[in-house]
Amino acid sequence: MKELLVATKNKHKMEEIKAILKDLPIKVISLLDVDCPVEIVEDGKTFEENAIIKAKAISKYTKKMVMADDSGLVVDYINGEPGIYSARYMGEDTSYTIKNQNIIDRLQDAKGDERKARFVCAIALAYEDGRVETVRGTMEGEIAYKIEGENGFGYDPILYLSEYGCTSASLSQEEKNKISHRAKALALVKDKLR
Ligand code: IMP
Repeated sequence: MKELLVATKNKHKMEEIKAILKDLPIKVISLLDVDCPVEIVEDGKTFEENAIIKAKAISKYTKKMVMADDSGLVVDYINGEPGIYSARYMGEDTSYTIKNQNIIDRLQDAKGDERKARFVCAIALAYEDGRVETVRGTMEGEIAYKIEGENGFGYDPILYLSEYGCTSASLSQEEKNKISHRAKALALVKDKLR
């Protein structure tokens, strides 16, 4: 059976990915299943570039088909920040309560469409022969006026989804997994792998 190595050690991410790809005849493994001491510098300028850097480096070393992702929050009013720096925004160790409040504060004069924002997930597939393909999924919303919701992680409490009337952090894990940027990108990956 063909193998797909997912460039993550995150068990939650793996569960989500395995569930979505379960009906394909592909064995899905993670970095916890292989020996891959490759140091990766994610110095791309876009989500896609970073996903490609990761997928290619790991595929080159392991000689396997590799899937890598890069995701984050893009806020129009502040020129796409935090973007590819989402994890590092205001420092890796700063709490998301502080990061989220900071973004709300920076948007205090933004109204209506100016508050538009989205989660973006780019996934790169690096094949054994060196070819690479990318896909992108988004979850569109607006920056909320206050932090809201107990579920999810990261910037979920400030991405307001008007069609649900609540933030991403107020959705259950199950609901979010159906409509998330990651789920949409994974669905596109599935089409490519089929
Ligand atoms: P990663 O590329 O999946 O590790 O995500 C990078 C960063 O983007 C995370 O540390 C979060 O700050 C942010 N992020 C990505 N996806 C989500 C999400 O679904 N909800 C909230 N924040 C997210």
